[in-house]
Amino acid sequence: MLEAFDKLPSTPRMPALFVGHGSPMNAIEDNAWSRTWHGLGEQLPKPNAILCVSAHWMTRGGTLVHVGEHPKTIHDFGGFPAELFAQQYPAPGAPDVAAATIALPHASPLRPDRDWGLDHGAWSVLMRMFPRADVPVFQLSLDLSQPMRKHFELARELKSLRGKGVLVVGSGNLVHNLRAIAPGRPPYDWAVEFDARMAQALERRDFQSVVDAEGLGAVMRSAHPTVEHFLPLLYTLGVADAADRLDWFNEGFDLASISMRSFVLS
Ligand code: ZN
Repeated sequence: MLEAFDKLPSTPRMPALFVGHGSPMNAIEDNAWSRTWHGLGEQLPKPNAILCVSAHWMTRGGTLVHVGEHPKTIHDFGGFPAELFAQQYPAPGAPDVAAATIALPHASPLRPDRDWGLDHGAWSVLMRMFPRADVPVFQLSLDLSQPMRKHFELARELKSLRGKGVLVVGSGNLVHNLRAIAPGRPPYDWAVEFDARMAQALERRDFQSVVDAEGLGAVMRSAHPTVEHFLPLLYTLGVADAADRLDWFNEGFDLASISMRSFVLS
């Protein structure tokens, strides 16, 4: 079973990212967030492949791994300009790495998928970070029927991919409440509080407090009325090592209720 994994070339350990992706418009707008993504892409070692765990691929009753050779660009949003719908991110898929990911030992088996592709949680960021679209990309779904703890445990099983040239990118938002978005308003108190609590926990590498965030009650429910933008964070943390250094980028809020806070583990 591990043959597929062993066949992948070993590399120096790759960094891992958590990226707050925010509005899909960041894909085409030249702004502070997207400029940082671009700069980061120039600094990172070139990956052999990217595993993106995006808030926008949600499944129930199982975790899927996309194994297609040519993942399609999915325009999974409404109400945006035609220019955004016209965007394509033609990065190749990574069927070999996806197969090796499935072959790793897992408490619950991962299943191959050929229908998905790249949703905007993946391509809006990657088209700025790796604009040449020459790094193979594959996605892994979020099984919403699983508790937080299970997502973190699954991510732990993926850690060895970092030694195979795979850049793991969790793409969500540390605070994400679309119902509360308010252009021009300063961030809400609950947004600032939740963002700060998570940042402090991450600074002290207290990942358990992040996994247990639902225990925070009201502030968690305000920050994440639904958890799909929070879950990708658990995948970035799952592939972390205690010795990893953590560097923040894009600290700040968009539209009062979206935290763009992001980080690199290396
Ligand atoms: Zn999103």
